[in-house]
Amino acid sequence: MSSFKDLFNTYCWDEVKESIYSNTEADVLQALQSTKRNIEDFKALISPAAEPFLEEMAQLSQQISQKRFGKTMQLYVPLYLSNECNNICTYCGFSFDNKVRRKTLTDREILQEVETIKKKGYDHILLVTGEANQTVHVDYFKNAMELVRPHFSNVSLEVQPLEQDEYEALLPYGLHAVLVYQETYHREDYKKHHPKGKKSNFDYRLETPDRLGKAGIHKMGLGVLIGLEDWRTDSFFTALHLSYLEKAYWQSKYSISFPRLRPFSGGLEPKVNMNDRELVQLICAYRIFNEEIELSISTRESEIFRNNVLKLGITSMSAGSKTNPGGYAVEPEALKQFEISDERSPEQIAQLIKSQGYEPVWKDWDSSLTIPLDK
Ligand code: SF4
Repeated sequence: MSSFKDLFNTYCWDEVKESIYSNTEADVLQALQSTKRNIEDFKALISPAAEPFLEEMAQLSQQISQKRFGKTMQLYVPLYLSNECNNICTYCGFSFDNKVRRKTLTDREILQEVETIKKKGYDHILLVTGEANQTVHVDYFKNAMELVRPHFSNVSLEVQPLEQDEYEALLPYGLHAVLVYQETYHREDYKKHHPKGKKSNFDYRLETPDRLGKAGIHKMGLGVLIGLEDWRTDSFFTALHLSYLEKAYWQSKYSISFPRLRPFSGGLEPKVNMNDRELVQLICAYRIFNEEIELSISTRESEIFRNNVLKLGITSMSAGSKTNPGGYAVEPEALKQFEISDERSPEQIAQLIKSQGYEPVWKDWDSSLTIPLDK
């Protein structure tokens, strides 16, 4: 099999959805008691039939997470470098058809942002841009990483999908992880939400993790935007994608995020609302299904939810995030990609983590392990 697309094309969305919703209490009990779980167990755990077992799932998830990761929580912060974007995405404040002032940070501005972020204690940074290939391209990323890397042990990217050789070219600049969310695995709905621009190519996005694996990227982040389609079916395809990648590119590590659609300027109403209990169910289902996977939760979620979910299987959190280019120091009031829900500072989040008996970790590997900058 040359890419995930070949496997994906053997599945039918409606059949998968029906099989998730037809799970019974007996299927859930079997999934909970199993010692070696498979994708069918994951289906049972995310099904409506598992809802009455949330307490059992939460306990099991917490137990597995502590065994594998200890009582630690990694902290990271996003740095938005640009809000220029050639794509139309119905759910995003940076969409091409949204008439807002566009901004791409200059070298001086990147360093200004870095200075402010460093004062907050971070050592793990996620560089984020829109998809504007003329402005924010591989050379722009190389330059940004050269500026940023001396200040952080760990640099991740969330930008447009690139070619394999482009990812390879970024590795010597200290690239550690790449996040690329499919948004939805529902092919027809994907088209509706991405009517214009390179992102409208569903297959190219679907095959991006394969290109990352072939390029030897250390860690990949997967996920869907919850609210666009039935979250259970979308999560099944995410888990299927994850299982495929773990076998095909076993040297890489993986993380999953659970962004729920948030309000933004000119915003889209979610087609499907996922409540807090359902999100807890999904987090626990991932952990019970896959002991190795890193699970990440961002400041899109509310204070109360983040306080309560911290011990249930999450391994990394963002804190004090700004979702506009220049948001930390240069232009704090500019248009955001989406509204932040948890506005607490990194110090407050670190305090919260400690108060629950966990240790906040500001980086996930030592800078001495970084590949030398030898281009
Ligand atoms: S989601 Fe990404 S690609 Fe789509 S409009 Fe927003 S920044 Fe651009």
